[in-house]
Amino acid sequence: MKSFAQSGRKRTRRRAAANPRPARTARFPRLVGTCADAAAALARLRVAIVGCGSVGGRVALHLARCGVRGLVLIDPKKYRPVSLLTHECYTETIGQNKADVMATVCRSICPDLEVRVYVKPVQDLLLSDLVEADVVVMATDNLPAEVDTGQRCIWLGKPLVHAALHGETLTASVRFFLNSDGQGPCPACLFGPQEWRDHDANLRRYSCDGTAHDPCLEGTGVVPTRSLSFLCAMSADLATNQVIRHALGLGRSVGDTMVEYNGYTHRTVVVPLGRNSNCPCEHVQYRVVRSTRQISDLTMRELVEMAGANHKSRDLLLQIPNMRWIDQMTCKCGAVTVVRHFQPYGDLCTKKCQTCKRIVVAGPMDASGAVATAAFDSVLDVPIRRLGARAMSQATLRDANRAWLIVPAHREARQ
Ligand SMILES: [Zn+2]
Ligand SMILES: [Zn+2]
Repeated sequence: MKSFAQSGRKRTRRRAAANPRPARTARFPRLVGTCADAAAALARLRVAIVGCGSVGGRVALHLARCGVRGLVLIDPKKYRPVSLLTHECYTETIGQNKADVMATVCRSICPDLEVRVYVKPVQDLLLSDLVEADVVVMATDNLPAEVDTGQRCIWLGKPLVHAALHGETLTASVRFFLNSDGQGPCPACLFGPQEWRDHDANLRRYSCDGTAHDPCLEGTGVVPTRSLSFLCAMSADLATNQVIRHALGLGRSVGDTMVEYNGYTHRTVVVPLGRNSNCPCEHVQYRVVRSTRQISDLTMRELVEMAGANHKSRDLLLQIPNMRWIDQMTCKCGAVTVVRHFQPYGDLCTKKCQTCKRIVVAGPMDASGAVATAAFDSVLDVPIRRLGARAMSQATLRDANRAWLIVPAHREARQ
C-alpha cells in the first residue's frame, strides 16, 4: 500500500464518498501491440448479445467491466432454480428475466453504459434493432436462433462471435464469423445432418407455442445442454477475448476462425472456418441507408432514390415488416377494386364492390409481403404513411443482385 500525504488523503476520501465509481480505465492494461487509446476504442464499442445465460450473461459482465459503450441484451427466458448451478445468478433472481437482470448488474458496474434490453426471441427482433451493434455475440443452445442470428449478421455485415461448449468433453469453443462481404461462412454453413434434424425438431416446437424456449422441455427430442459452471465461464472468457482482439486488432485476425480449448488435454486449436456453398442462408449483404426523416414520411420515389436504386426496375422489391401490400381485389362478380394500400398482417381488408355492392375481403392471392416498386406508379409521390404504413422503423429494398436496409438515422437507446 502506497503512503500518501495527509492533505491528499483527506481529499481522496472526500472524493471517494461523493463518487465511489472507479475510472473506467483504472485497471486497463497497456496491451502489447496497441496504441495508447485502446481503452478509448473500447469505449466506442457496442455489442449485442443473443442469449444472456450461463455464457452470454458472463460476456455481458466482462464487456461492462472492459468499459464498452453499449450493450444490447436479448433473451426471452427467466432464471430457474437449476440456473444456480451454471449461471451468474442467485436465489433472489430466480423467476426474473435473464436479459433484464444482466442489464441491471451491468449498469451497476458501469452507470454510463448504454443498455437496451429485448425480452423476446431474437427471431422476433427487427433487422434494424441490431443495426447499431459493432459486434454480435451469440450464446444460445437454440439452433433456429443460431441460424436466424447468423442470417441477420450476414445481411447487416456484422461480425458474429458464437460461443459454445461441450460439457461431456470439457470443451469450450468460439467461432468468429467476420461477415465482411456476405461471402464468408455463417453458423448454418457448418451444420451437419444431425444439427439440421435438431434444428427442425426445435423449429416445430417454436412454431407451436410461438416462443423459442428451453429445448430441455419435453417433446422436442433435443436434450438440454449439460455443463459445469467453470466451462461456461471459460467459453465466455474465450468469446470476450475474441471480441476484444477483433475490436483492438490484437494479434492475427480472428475473422472466420474457430478457437477450441479442451480441458482433458489442455490443447487449444485454432482452425479456419469455410463457407458451405449448399448453405440455405442467403449470403447477401444489405447496404444500410440512414434516413434523416421518418421513413413513413418518405414517398416511394424518395425512398428508392435514397438507396440509389431505380424504381422502374421490374425486379426491385420493397418490404415493410409485418405489412402486406394489397394492390387490388377481385369480387365474385368479376369486378376489380383497386386498393393500393399496406395492411398489417392479420388485419382484414374489406371493400364494397362498386358493381354488385357486396363486401369483398382480400384473400391471400390479393396480398404480397414484398411488392414490386413498379406497381407503385400512381402512388409513387404519396408519403408511405398515407399508404397505410404509419409506424415503421425499417424498410428493405432488393433487386436481383443488391439489397438495401433503410433505417432512421438516429435510434435512441431505450433504457
Ligand atoms: Zn452460410
Ligand atoms: Zn361485385
